[in-house]
Amino acid sequence: MVFDLDMIKQVYSRIPGRVAAARAAVNRPLTLTEKILYAHLWQGEASEDFARGVSYVDFAPDRVAMQDATAQMALLQFMQAGRDKVAVPSTVHCDHLIQAKVGAVADLQTAVDKNKEVYDFLASVSNKYGIGFWKAGAGIIHQVVLENYAFPGGMMIGTDSHTPNAGGLGMIAIGVGGADACDVMAGLAWELKFPKLIGVKLTGKLSGWTSAKDVILKVAGILTVKGGTDHIVEYFGEGARSLSATGKGTICNMGAEIGATTSIFGYDENSASYLRGTGRAEVAALADGIAEHLTGDAEVYANPEKYFDQVIEINLSELEPHINGPFTPDLAWPLSKFAQAVRENGWPAKLDVGLIGSCTNSSYEDISRAASLAQQAVDKNLKAKAEYTITPGSEMVRYTVERDGFLGTFDQMGGVVLANACGPCIGQWARHGAEKQEKNSIITSFNRNFAKRADGNPNTHAFVASPEIVTALAIAGDLTFNPVTDTLTNEKGEQVKLEEPKGLDLPTKGFAVEDAGYQAPAADGSKVQVAVSPSSERLQLLDPFKAWEGTDLHGLKLLIKAKGKCTTDHISMAGPWLRFRGHLDNISNNLLIGAINYFNETANKVKNQISGEYGEVPAVQRAYKAAGIGSIVVGDENYGEGSSREHAAMEPRHLGVRAILVKSFARIHETNLKKQGMLALTFANKADYEKVQENDSIDILGLTSFAPGKPLRIVLNHADGSKDEIVVNHSYNEQQIEWFKAGAALNIIRAQFAG
Ligand code: SF4
Repeated sequence: MVFDLDMIKQVYSRIPGRVAAARAAVNRPLTLTEKILYAHLWQGEASEDFARGVSYVDFAPDRVAMQDATAQMALLQFMQAGRDKVAVPSTVHCDHLIQAKVGAVADLQTAVDKNKEVYDFLASVSNKYGIGFWKAGAGIIHQVVLENYAFPGGMMIGTDSHTPNAGGLGMIAIGVGGADACDVMAGLAWELKFPKLIGVKLTGKLSGWTSAKDVILKVAGILTVKGGTDHIVEYFGEGARSLSATGKGTICNMGAEIGATTSIFGYDENSASYLRGTGRAEVAALADGIAEHLTGDAEVYANPEKYFDQVIEINLSELEPHINGPFTPDLAWPLSKFAQAVRENGWPAKLDVGLIGSCTNSSYEDISRAASLAQQAVDKNLKAKAEYTITPGSEMVRYTVERDGFLGTFDQMGGVVLANACGPCIGQWARHGAEKQEKNSIITSFNRNFAKRADGNPNTHAFVASPEIVTALAIAGDLTFNPVTDTLTNEKGEQVKLEEPKGLDLPTKGFAVEDAGYQAPAADGSKVQVAVSPSSERLQLLDPFKAWEGTDLHGLKLLIKAKGKCTTDHISMAGPWLRFRGHLDNISNNLLIGAINYFNETANKVKNQISGEYGEVPAVQRAYKAAGIGSIVVGDENYGEGSSREHAAMEPRHLGVRAILVKSFARIHETNLKKQGMLALTFANKADYEKVQENDSIDILGLTSFAPGKPLRIVLNHADGSKDEIVVNHSYNEQQIEWFKAGAALNIIRAQFAG
């Protein structure tokens, strides 16, 4: 048993009382989201109906989960916090650093050799501070968490943006930066802007080619990549109850792509079956005991418009399979319209690779349904025309699907099984020929499809769909194939049709595994040594950031005015840079190298205002730092969307950028900037973005009276001697202003423990 039953018992013992108190305090029925949030208030009592989308509220999460890429920085920060043990149950999962090249066994061995230093660091720091450690090959964080730790009514934060996957089991699970994880592990409150609520009512029942993935592909099309910002999405209705727990996990997982804070489903019979099927019958029994509190009140679901800020209704019986993309996950196409879209837009119709897996779609159910199609391909003499890869979500799933013969079926179809890890989903894909940057198409069951994400090639058109649709299209090798209506020509020249996929939520013989890949921490870690070599290229102990100098900021140089989409991938690229995640100075050499410079429409080419020459962004910023000159980054809408990586905030801080001024921020990135002592500012008038010129010298005024809700002013001193003064907004509260003044949130934590 790796889960913490005592902790779950404690949480369940307080939920009924807190829900009753909260219902009385707000004097109306409650959504599920509100029940769980109120049950996890840091202060314990809900004394008011918090203003949704406005109030900042302190919470007490029950768990922390970290993946290996982000855990390095989170734990380097935690080591600075001055504690001997984590304050809440926490785990580390080694999944992001395994590169997919030839197949599971060889790739895993290569990763273990290549990443030894990092894995040793993570294993030892986990051992020392009481953190559960899942070694490389154990599986993808969110699948492992769903199988072992997620529980209905719980609250978890995780250093990965797809942490909401655990919402499939009724948990409020939110992706955060490593700095937030560090706070919670240090025993401090965790602050969140009280979310607005979107209710998604699901009616009907899935059938045929449609699967849970299509629900979120459809929702992404409705809400777009920004529509869920500052919202929690709560699914309910008979359709919701008809979905498997892992199917619900898929939907919650990809809620990250609409910018949602998280997504959640209520506890039901399918949740209980999954808990029992994954060795947690005690948790199911406990949840049964308080089941009425693990779902929204009946009055809420009867009149959702009264209690949610927005309501969407989807009839699962009528829902078509969807394919979303390319280059953005919210470009949603019903399957029946997709072939025409491919032709009209000139996207490459030939499909090169189909990839199934990732944390979104790597459950037993997903793999068994995809395997039913692979079996048909074998039976009907069809050879997969595209390359095809399978990434199991965990060693438990992999072992079980191998036992049940599915991996053998994929093998017969020509598929390649990759390690139980992120692999191509995070750019860890040594794709043959990608460097030629040819225009091509791939389709995946992943969640993200921004340019370059999978293979680094900007001309790869990546589409996302369910594992079933990915498999069918990989068999056809053709993006315009519609398995619902079209036939394929087999090896014998016959016309054959694929039947609807079939699968099982849970294995009839139960899950099995030989070595799940878990290492429990030492009971007393005080003697455990954490080794970080001073000459390491990949790990570097942190030095505290300097406190604010106490004055307004004058003479800042414009580092870059980024145009259009600027995700955390553009700010701190993944792929090969992942190896430097634990070394702030080295990884800073990727700062903003993917952002497009407004003035020359080119990536990684900005003007150095000291020399007048154009150079790469990190080099220009290092020149400003060396000269003791601060700088500012200007950006467009939803700056920092994509992931929780705090490197995107730490790198500019480390290199001497003082402020990020944008039209709007993605939530996690904005918080990360604040944690690191940066100024995260937004144009009061978005049109002022146009006033920023390439040679500007910039002043930030009003800092000596920096206060919540009070705008700051910025003076743009143009090269011709003219000026523009503009108003800029911020969302700092009192505490966050203290972080800014101290130079970083961590500086305050350390002082508290030292005191
Ligand atoms: S989205 Fe991809 S990279 Fe992120 S955790 Fe899931 S599988 Fe890994």
